[in-house]
This record gives sequence, C-alpha cells and structure tokens, in this order.
Amino acid sequence: MKYEVVMGLETHAELNTVSKLFCGCSTKFGSEPNTQACPICLGLPGVLPVMNERAFEHSLKAAIALNCEIGRFASFDRKNYYYPDLPKNYQISQSYFNIGNNGYVDIVVKGKKKRIDIHNVHLEEEAGKLIHPEKSDDDYSLVDFNRAGVPLLEIVTEPDMRSIEEVESYMQILRNILLYIGVSDCKMQEGSLRFEASISLCEKGAKVYGNRVEIKNLNSMKAVLKVLAYEISRQGDLLDKGKEVLMETRLWDEVNAVSRRMRTKEEAHDYRYFPEPDLVPVWIDQKWIDETKKTIPELPVNKRQRFVKEYLISDYDAGVLTEDIFLADYFEACVKLARNSSKELSNWIINDVLRELNERKINIQEFTVTPKMLVELIKEKSTVGNAIAKEVFIEMVNTGKNAQSIINEKNLAQLSDVDELNTITANVIEKNPKAVEDYKRGKKNALAFLIGQTMKMTKGKANPKILTEILKEKITTGPK
Ligand code: ZN
Ligand code: MN
Repeated sequence: MKYEVVMGLETHAELNTVSKLFCGCSTKFGSEPNTQACPICLGLPGVLPVMNERAFEHSLKAAIALNCEIGRFASFDRKNYYYPDLPKNYQISQSYFNIGNNGYVDIVVKGKKKRIDIHNVHLEEEAGKLIHPEKSDDDYSLVDFNRAGVPLLEIVTEPDMRSIEEVESYMQILRNILLYIGVSDCKMQEGSLRFEASISLCEKGAKVYGNRVEIKNLNSMKAVLKVLAYEISRQGDLLDKGKEVLMETRLWDEVNAVSRRMRTKEEAHDYRYFPEPDLVPVWIDQKWIDETKKTIPELPVNKRQRFVKEYLISDYDAGVLTEDIFLADYFEACVKLARNSSKELSNWIINDVLRELNERKINIQEFTVTPKMLVELIKEKSTVGNAIAKEVFIEMVNTGKNAQSIINEKNLAQLSDVDELNTITANVIEKNPKAVEDYKRGKKNALAFLIGQTMKMTKGKANPKILTEILKEKITTGPK
C-alpha cells in the first residue's frame, strides 16, 4: 500500500433517558408509530423547549470521561435544513459552545497504545424516522415521530486514525466507555449507536491530505469497517490511474457491498447555524464538574491493565472480562470470595459462564449463578472432579440451586473410599481376565480399559488417582 489512509469518525449515541430532550414524551423503543409525540417534539407553533436535566448530565459525564475541556457554559444553536423527518425544519444542536472540546480516547492496536483526539462532544435532538415502502413503485413514505427529540450525543474525532484496526479499536473502546458510564444502551440493532466516517488517501509522507469523502448513516461497526475497506481500494484505484477523488458524501449499499454518491461538495448544505433563542445557556461550575467526575467508574482500558497486574491473567482474558463492567464486577466479586485462584475463576467465567450467557441470550445481571455459588462449586471440584463439576455447573444454571445440594441430591460426590473401590475393582478384574493378562504382558492400554470399566460401574464417580493405584497393585500382586 503506497498511500497513507486518513480517517475520522462521528458517532451518534442516543442517551438512555426516560423522556425526550425538550419535552416529557417517552423515549421507549418499539412503540406504535406516532404514539410518543406532542406539540413540542412535533414543532407546532408557540411551543417552547425545556432542557432535560438528566440528558445534559449524561452528556457532561461523557465529555469528562472522554477527557474533554469543559467550558464555563454550554449553549444551543439551530441547525437549519429541510427534511420530512424534521418537523421544525431545524435541529436544536450545538455549534458555538459545545459541552466538551479537545478530548481524547486512548486505543490499543496490537498491544500498542495510540491516542485519538476528540474534536468535540455535543448534545442535540434526534430526528424522526422515515419508513419507505418495500415495493419500489409505491409512491409514498411514512414518518414516525416517536424518535423525534430523543437526546442524541455526538462525538467527533480528529482525522487521527490510520488503519481499519485503529477505527475498530476506537469504536469498541468508545462503546465500552459509554456503557461503563451508563449514558447509552448502545444497541446498534435499535439504532442507539450510529456512525459517519470520513476518509482520504494521500501519498505516504505528503504534507497535504487528499480529498475527503464522507460516508453517512452507518448503523453498525461492521458497516463502518466494510465501507472503509471498500473506499481504500476505490480511492486507491482512482489515484493509481491518476484520477481525482471527488470531495463528496457517499452512502453504503449493504446489499451490493458498494458505496454510492449521495451529494457532491456543490450540493453540500449550508446549515446557517444561529443561537437558539428559546433556550438559555447552561452554566457549568467546578463543583458540578467535580461531582460528575466522582460518578465515573474506572474505565475499561485502565481496568484491563489493572486486571493483568493484580490478578496475573493474560491481557486477552482481561480484555474479555472487562468488555462488560458487570462481568468485570462479577469476576472481582468471585476473586474476593475465593482468593488466590483468579486464573481458575477467569477460566470458568470466560469458558463456562459466557457460554451459558450466550446460549441463553441473557446478560450477567440476569444470571442465576451468583459469585458465591460459583466459588463454592470450584471448592467442591476437589471432591467431585472436573468433569462432574462441569455437569453440576449446568444444573446450577438450570435450577438456581447451589453446588452442595445438587451433589447431595444426585449423589455425585466422588468415590474415594478405598474399601468400596477395592470391592469394585476386584469385581472388574474377575470379569476381564483377558485385559488383566494383556496388561501383565506389557500392554499399557489394557489398564485404561480396566479403568474405564470401573468408571462405568461407578457412573464416573471413582476417584481416578486412587482407582488407578488400586488396580495396578491388585494386578501386579495378584488376588489376596
Ligand atoms: Zn414530545
Ligand atoms: Mn449530529
């Protein structure tokens, strides 16, 4: 690749408030169309917007978590454009005094840390949603205003990303931060998290960036990665042929896996931003900033590094455990109860707990096995063996009972009683004279066969170590 790729990202995250940004309408997702709308969010004449305090607090929290400079006040502006899903013909957004400016997010690619600068973080209102008929000859579209006025946080990076891997890491870490601080559910399937990407190519080492292409309306991280890979090759081909890359806005066509022109620079909107006269600026004092800081938990990248250091687990495992703040809390609650077995606990959570969560499509908060129950099970492992412990775990998930009662009820405790094992092995030896002879003649796997037969008789409960010793001794010394 002879070109340098320069990429930036704008992220829109719906904030998880109960009501909309400027009115009392519900923000609940999936309701009947146009049942959550009122004169304010429909933009009828004579109404006034009132700021949702929680939405503002969430935005401030995000701006602080993204290391932004917070000004003495934030104000709101009108962004004017005409579109059927925008009833007022303008969007209340921020342009002149954003909630946050000049922040950054540290990302990690292939073990290397890189800082991505955040240009600004601002708060605005969502538009409604247009629903187009599936048949192309139907000459109407429908509009649902339930989404109009939902609080939307926009996070704009500088063009700091140089590879697809960096973009992927940035999106994942940003999403994780928003989830950790609890300001958005970040459900991409419900449109709570959406992206716009910008990308240009230039000769390596060039002082001036190439013409920038923007891609709008990307509804998933996957779509972002696909369209950027597509643009790298499309723009690279144009430059190879000595052609110009046009400065334009494009859309990603998921079905045909191509990007298409939406509008060129000449058709770009002039939004004629001006201060929103119906809203007063929000003053932010140091006390408010300090109090908000206290509500921000340890963030994912820091937690991941601490897990590696404190619990001596791999960076990969720490990454999986800190993907979800509640999973990280679950792990730490287990470690506190068990001590000294963080590696084993991490393995159980990553392999067994996550598998059950995925299969059941539930999250860790809904999981029936509490940290205390998991730690108890791992203690029981020394008496029941690994294979049975795994079975008991599944039973715990299904019934919500603890390990001890399942082991008692199902009589699963491992058989370590020497007298009992003596009787059973004597019986096995008597029934399998050929295997015994084979073993005596040096056939090692004959012993495995005899162990297997004993396991069968004890339904897998025999303690394998004691059992093997007894069998070996019996065969070499003969019947007593
Ligand atoms: Zn409303
Ligand atoms: Mn926006």
